[in-house]
Amino acid sequence: MAPLSITGQTRIVGIFGDPIAHTRSPAMQNAAFQACKLPYVYVPLLVHPSNLSRAVHSIRALNLVGVNVTVPHKEHIVRHLDSLSEEATLCGAVNTVVNRDGHLFGDNTDGRGFLQSLKEYGLSPKQGEIILIGAGGSARAVLVSLLRAGYGPVTIVNRTVTNAKALVRKFQGLSKRPVHARPLDALQDTALLQRAALIINSTSVGLHGEKFFPLAYAESPRNCLFYDLLYRPEPTSFLQGALKVKRTILDGREMLFHQGALAFSLWTGVPAPLTEMKRALLRALHG
Ligand code: NDP
Repeated sequence: MAPLSITGQTRIVGIFGDPIAHTRSPAMQNAAFQACKLPYVYVPLLVHPSNLSRAVHSIRALNLVGVNVTVPHKEHIVRHLDSLSEEATLCGAVNTVVNRDGHLFGDNTDGRGFLQSLKEYGLSPKQGEIILIGAGGSARAVLVSLLRAGYGPVTIVNRTVTNAKALVRKFQGLSKRPVHARPLDALQDTALLQRAALIINSTSVGLHGEKFFPLAYAESPRNCLFYDLLYRPEPTSFLQGALKVKRTILDGREMLFHQGALAFSLWTGVPAPLTEMKRALLRALHG
């Protein structure tokens, strides 16, 4: 691919985070801008929490096209923006900001990105029950999108069951499908596992090589899909268990890719060049 050429016409998209050096989004988004011949460049911006308000003002002051937002700013940035999408409002978190002539619109493409990857895989809402492990920020985004799209019933399984119950209270009204909260030992409940079409890990457990919780993998139906929002190590500890009993797996690269593609379209108004984006992301992750 030709090197990026910066001219007087170049517009900037950024990503706010702290830390930020690990992000692979610049590779993916710059490949997309180049593929579409758009005069945009995507850069990492290290924003300390104490500077978040000033950083948001700089989106207007520097006439940025917009930004992605990552840890630890996704929730804190909400109060600094001018308007929010329905998803961002429901999740209380933003991962994409669009600068519309100084009006800052916040959206959250994490859940829709997750959903898009399920659709691409071919899992329809009526295929069976969902077990969602974890009740943090990513679980919230995934749950909102699943319920709005008609997936369910959903059982949220979490170490701190009160956090899972809080999600049930907040979101069960989004759908007629039941939503339940259970502690971690539910992962060994044979009857629950046997009804599952999709089991999602949205916790950070496994990120540093820790062993995943005991889970009765073999009780799941043969066509049950195991989806880890993590993508390192490859395969993750959660997905290793699924592979041992020959179940299908997806990992967090799919969600990362699709949330990025949706953000690209929000900034540019054009469909994302999916092939180029995916190739660039995989190269950046494995290169
Ligand atoms: P949060 O901190 O909001 O939530 C963490 C969740 O993990 C909670 O449910 C927490 O349980 C649980 N947890 C953490 N440590 C343990 C442990 N030792 N034992 C049991 N449960 C534990 O994190 P996020 O939801 O924002 O992110 C979770 C992971 O998802 C991150 O590692 C992130 O990288 C990944 N992610 C991937 C994305 C992608 O695009 N692929 C997008 C977003 C996130 P409790 O409530 O009991 O504390």
